[in-house]
Amino acid sequence: MFNDLKNKKVLVTGSTKGIGLAAALEFARQGAVVGINSHVMDAAAEEAIAQAESLGADFAFFQHDLSKSEECAALINEFVEKFGGLDVLVNNAGGLGIRAGLESLDDAAYDLVFDLNIRSVVMTTKYAIPHLKESAARSGTTAAVISTGSIAGREGGGPGASLYGGSKAVIHNLHRTWVKELTTSNIRFNVVAPGTIDTAFHDDKSPELKEKIRNSIPMGRFGTSEECAPAYLFLASHQASGYITGQVIDVNGGQMCP
Ligand code: NAD
Repeated sequence: MFNDLKNKKVLVTGSTKGIGLAAALEFARQGAVVGINSHVMDAAAEEAIAQAESLGADFAFFQHDLSKSEECAALINEFVEKFGGLDVLVNNAGGLGIRAGLESLDDAAYDLVFDLNIRSVVMTTKYAIPHLKESAARSGTTAAVISTGSIAGREGGGPGASLYGGSKAVIHNLHRTWVKELTTSNIRFNVVAPGTIDTAFHDDKSPELKEKIRNSIPMGRFGTSEECAPAYLFLASHQASGYITGQVIDVNGGQMCP
């Protein structure tokens, strides 16, 4: 469907499980060269590597904790050194960080959530820009940055997730400014905002709470990571979305219609 993704050099951060893994594997199925990333080399990373290998993908795993600026720089450098360029950056690494109400928030919680969800996106994108400019100039089309936002970035997080929801709202907004700064360099910036997707992200929720959430979704169920993946491919493909930039694409089963 997205023929022009073949041989594109695509880095997906936070991609050893969940939404990032589903997107990385789908890019690989389209013939893209894929960078898989996590902060840890754990069982999930081993399984992700095994899955990419079984697809016969041209890929590499890069272990970097993207809540640290120097590791964002190192990730981009290593990817470009290995594959000779970068055409598409997917900023997906992120997470809840901590569930705590406003009255119990402290500096450590603030740093944890904002470093994981905002520093990672800002710094990884900053270091990617020179390579994305080169990619766009070389191809005569557009390079793409796609970041994972959230329904929480639109309507606020649930109780205890104010920093998380706020951090995702920042991501939605950052992209709107980057469109103003970098569209002349032929780089497109878009966000995929998942609703409630069945991943490890929800492991801390009780069965009762999960049922309550399911009942709030018009489609009556959580989404799957595989149902999110095509939105990333669409936004990465110049052929499919070359005139789309600065947008937030919601993948949420109707849970919220902005
Ligand atoms: P997940 O926990 O299944 O996967 C997270 C991935 O990010 C893992 O590969 C993990 O190793 C990696 N990661 C975590 N911290 C990292 C770090 N510091 N540096 C590098 N990699 C790191 O989670 P998921 O549900 O697939 O979430 C993926 C993205 O989607 C996140 O940004 C999350 O906020 C967002 N999101 C998820 C949902 C949902 O319902 N699952 C909804 C909206 C947005």
